[in-house]
Amino acid sequence: MRDSQDQLPNPSHSESRLFEAALDASSNGVVITDNLLPDQPIIYCNRAFEQLTGYDRDEIIGHNCRFLQSGDRDQDARSEIREAIENGKNCQVEIRNYKKNGEMIWNELMISPVTNNEGQITHFIGIQNDVSRRKAAETELAKEKEYLEERVVERTRDLELSEAYQASIIETIRESLVVLDKEMKVLSVNEHFCKFFKLKSKEIIGQVLFSIGDNGQWDIPELKDLLLKILPHNNPFEGFELENEFPRIGRKLLVLNARQVMLKGKYQERILLAIEDITERREIEQRKEDFISIASHEMKTPLTSIKGNIQLLERKAQRNNDSEYMVGFTKAAKSIERLERLIDDLLDVSKIQSGKIEFHFTDFQFDDLVTEAVSGVQAATQTHKLNITGSSNTEIAGDYGRLEQVLINLLNNAVKYSPSADEVKIHISRVSDYVKVAITDSGVGIHQRDHKRIFERFYRAEQITEKFPGVGIGLYVSSQIIKEHKGTLWVESEEGKGSVFNFTIPIKKK
Ligand code: ADP
Repeated sequence: MRDSQDQLPNPSHSESRLFEAALDASSNGVVITDNLLPDQPIIYCNRAFEQLTGYDRDEIIGHNCRFLQSGDRDQDARSEIREAIENGKNCQVEIRNYKKNGEMIWNELMISPVTNNEGQITHFIGIQNDVSRRKAAETELAKEKEYLEERVVERTRDLELSEAYQASIIETIRESLVVLDKEMKVLSVNEHFCKFFKLKSKEIIGQVLFSIGDNGQWDIPELKDLLLKILPHNNPFEGFELENEFPRIGRKLLVLNARQVMLKGKYQERILLAIEDITERREIEQRKEDFISIASHEMKTPLTSIKGNIQLLERKAQRNNDSEYMVGFTKAAKSIERLERLIDDLLDVSKIQSGKIEFHFTDFQFDDLVTEAVSGVQAATQTHKLNITGSSNTEIAGDYGRLEQVLINLLNNAVKYSPSADEVKIHISRVSDYVKVAITDSGVGIHQRDHKRIFERFYRAEQITEKFPGVGIGLYVSSQIIKEHKGTLWVESEEGKGSVFNFTIPIKKK
């Protein structure tokens, strides 16, 4: 260390070598610049500095430190360094430096001034550390953070949108919704509820449901019971019908469904009660029922007269041996019979609906009933052979005519829905306390999804509606008749593989 060496403390030669060896052993780059010389050149650098920068000592000594920034001058850290040097202060900055091979490194630089006895700054000591890896990690982290922040903003916006979306659904839904807490107090209601019951939400929020209104319309023991069971046992209910006079809207028939509220996969101490007004729908249904009932009654009288007259004419043609007329009259009589059956079925439907269907129970041998029904259908069927096997040898108590109606219906269906077959099998048996009949055809069969629905009023399996005539009430009436006998009627079938219609009836207890 030359020239300005006299400005530095003057260690002995051996001490100086010791210091240099210590500095060379340091992993931090160390430089000393001379502050009294023009352009403050570097007068010392250790080995770590050479390694850090890739320059040899020869290429370093004498240069101003700025050579390390190459062309990258526009750095805030530079003005900080300049200010510290001008004011003789310590400073610590992170600055982009460039190695001899052009590679950029982040240099964590600490600068401290060295003063002489007169307080004059003679040197600056710079200690450097390559923090490129840390900086890269920091940048990566910052990027990640920025990305995450963007995602959070996006998610929040999505959530806000979906909450607004759900709220708009709840508000537009044409069903009244009420949220109750565990004490059955109303926590919130949707707009439809207020509109429908002509109430303001503040009149009901916080009130116990059962105390709303002035004539206890909601104070219904069965409803109370159902609602109180929901939370402790997570026991939802559906289809509770409630008919009542409501203060501002009159008499209404409502259907109530209720369940425990679930939020983010967790059950809450809240009940969601959905209320549907079915007053109008029920009225329309009732009008439809009334129409079917009146129309079938009205048709029955003229039909009876037509039937009587046709029979008269048929007999006359028979007497006159007029075969041409006879064929025509027989055809007409058959059509009338079909029409009569249909009207009877329709009348039965309305009787079932109004609970006015009557049963006349007597005791008889079950096997006789089945045999009679089978021979009746066989007489009208040329295409299929109806084969009976088994027996029950059992007397039962039932409505003979109604049970015959069931059997005729099942047998006619078995024939109708197996157009390519030539046999229907009927098996009679006694199973425990029951008599049982199984009617097997090898016809079109029934898809699993329709096994229950075919017993509903006017339901017909989709794929057969065009191919086979019918209105879909035979099985409905049959199942009601069997129910009245405390028995069960069911089907086992696969599409394309035929069907087995079974029913059981409990035998008469002696
Ligand atoms: P309909 O025969 O007038 O349609 P039903 O009430 O007797 O009315 O039967 C209801 C429906 O059940 C039928 O439309 C048909 O889809 C199905 N079904 C009844 N019996 C059979 C059967 N033996 N094979 C296949 N499908 C049947």
